[in-house]
Amino acid sequence: MTDALIHIQNLTKIYGKGEAVVRALDGLDLTVASSEFVAVMGPSGCGKSTLLNMIGALDQPTEGEVWVNGENLARLKDVDDFRAKTVGFVFQLHNLLPTLSAQENVEVPMYGHVSGRRARHERAAHLLDLVGLGDRLDALPGQLSGGQRQRVAVARALANDPALLLADEPTGSLDSQSGEEIMDLLAELNQSQGATILVVTHDRRVAQATQRIVRMKDGRVVSDHRLADPLEEDLRMLARSRLGQAVLGKNGLEADYLSPEEKTILKKLLARVEDRSTFTMIG
Ligand code: ADP
Ligand code: MG
Repeated sequence: MTDALIHIQNLTKIYGKGEAVVRALDGLDLTVASSEFVAVMGPSGCGKSTLLNMIGALDQPTEGEVWVNGENLARLKDVDDFRAKTVGFVFQLHNLLPTLSAQENVEVPMYGHVSGRRARHERAAHLLDLVGLGDRLDALPGQLSGGQRQRVAVARALANDPALLLADEPTGSLDSQSGEEIMDLLAELNQSQGATILVVTHDRRVAQATQRIVRMKDGRVVSDHRLADPLEEDLRMLARSRLGQAVLGKNGLEADYLSPEEKTILKKLLARVEDRSTFTMIG
C-alpha cells in the first residue's frame, strides 16, 4: 500500500462499555519511514502504550488500519510469526527469565525461527556484544545492573532481526545515567544498523536523542516535529564559524588555505542551510 514502514490511519481503540468506556486511541494517524528514530511523548494515559501494542499486533483496533512492513495487521495470516519476526519489544521492566543466562534469554525468541542450537548461540553472543555485554554472556539477570538487564532486553528484542524496534519507556525504571546509556545504545543501533525505532519516553532530554518527536494527547497526535538531519546541523554550525563566515565573505576574512573550487562548493553548501530553522513542522 505504501513504502512507509508504519502507516496508521484513523486508529481508534475503545476499552470497556457503557459508563466505563475509554477512548484510548481516537482517530490517530501516523506514518513512519524505514530507519527513522522516533520518540513518542505525552501525558500518562494518553494512549502511548496502546499505540505500541497495536503496532506490535499485541492488541486489535476498534477501528482504523495499521500497516507494518507492507502488511495490513487486520489481515495477518500468522500473528505469532509477525510478532516474533517483524517487531522487537523492549518494555519498562525487562522481564528477563531469572534462571536463564543473558545469552540464553536472548536465544529464547529464536526458537522456531533460527534453526540450529549453535546458530542461536552464536547470534545471541553477537547481539550481546553489540549492546556492550560481550563479556557477560553467562551472567544471570540477578547478577547484572538494571541498565545491563535492559541491554539484554534490547539484544533479545533484536533476536530475529526485526524490521522495527518498539520500546515502551525503556528507561523508566533506570537511574538517569543508565537511562542515557540505553538511549545512546538505541541511537547507535539506529545509526549503525539502520534500525527503525519507536520509543515512548517522558524524558525531554532523552527524546532529543531521536530524529523526530511525536506528541500525543487524548489518543491523538497533537504535534510531530522532525529534527534537522545531523549533517545539516554540522553545516549550520560551520556556517556560523569564522571559516564559514570567511568563505561566505561576510567579514572580510580570507580562507587562504581553500582552493577556489573548494570555496565554491563550501559556499553552496553553507548557503543551502544558512537561513533554515532547526525544526521543520510537519503534519
Ligand atoms: P499511556 O501508555 O500513554 O500511559 P495507555 O495506552 O496505557 O496510556 O492507556 C490509555 C487509556 O486506556 C488509559 O485511560 C487507560 O486507563 C486505558 N486502558 C489501557 N489499557 C486498558 C485495558 N486493557 N482496559 C481498559 N482500559 C485500558
Ligand atoms: Mg504506557
